[in-house]
Amino acid sequence: MSVLQPGLCQRYEKVKKALSQEEIKFGRKPNSVQLLPVSKTFGIEAIIEGIQCGMTSFGENYVQEACDKIDYCREHYPEQKLTWHLIGHLQSNKTRLAAEHFDWIQTIDSVKIAKRLSDQRPEGMLPINVLIEVNISDEATKSGVQPADIRALAEAVKTLPNLKLRGLMCIPETGDTHEEKMAPLNAMKVLFDELNAEGYGLDTLSMGMSGDMAEAVEAGSTMVRVGSAIFGPRDYSKKEK
Ligand SMILES: *Cc1c(COP(=O)(O)O)cnc(C)c1O
Repeated sequence: MSVLQPGLCQRYEKVKKALSQEEIKFGRKPNSVQLLPVSKTFGIEAIIEGIQCGMTSFGENYVQEACDKIDYCREHYPEQKLTWHLIGHLQSNKTRLAAEHFDWIQTIDSVKIAKRLSDQRPEGMLPINVLIEVNISDEATKSGVQPADIRALAEAVKTLPNLKLRGLMCIPETGDTHEEKMAPLNAMKVLFDELNAEGYGLDTLSMGMSGDMAEAVEAGSTMVRVGSAIFGPRDYSKKEK
């Protein structure tokens, strides 16, 4: 049986429409916020249906699960220009697989991981677009670097030939009120603007999910990562450990 929700295309269109209305509402330029569909835990059928709905990029959390999907698409849809983003935490024993498959890695949080990715990027592939993950809510359990440590990591990444530093990402603590949601998102925008004022030339601020997409657009996100609002609720029972 398919795990797909009925009406994937309709859900995708609905989210796209909501996003463009939020761009207008918050005075953002049309199409200045990219919508990244997050397909983690959904099978290859969901990816195929997503491609048929016009999706060209996918966000994935689990390296092995994602690489299976990427390999399948490389084989069966070679004419599709798909862009794959790793948005889950990356362990050093998975960097080679990740370097061989992903176009973007949004969760860089150490020099060690960055170096391994650059070293392991296969020859002939473009540099990996990377984002530094910031632990903006200062949660002990979360990965990501502290704001004070961003520059040291950014400088290290800049020296690596097979990585291209594009910006910052965060997964803030979930807030209940508008103010609680806005605080970490606004803090990220301040960091992003500071780095650009210092000449880092970043173009991507990845923040906002199904539950705080509007707030992220309001705060200045350039990429929202939306899973359940598009693909429906997730079943984690088959997730790799
Ligand atoms: C799962 C996930 C998302 C999507 O979350 P939804 O709430 O389903 O939209 C976005 N970003 C990251 C890092 C995730 O792990």
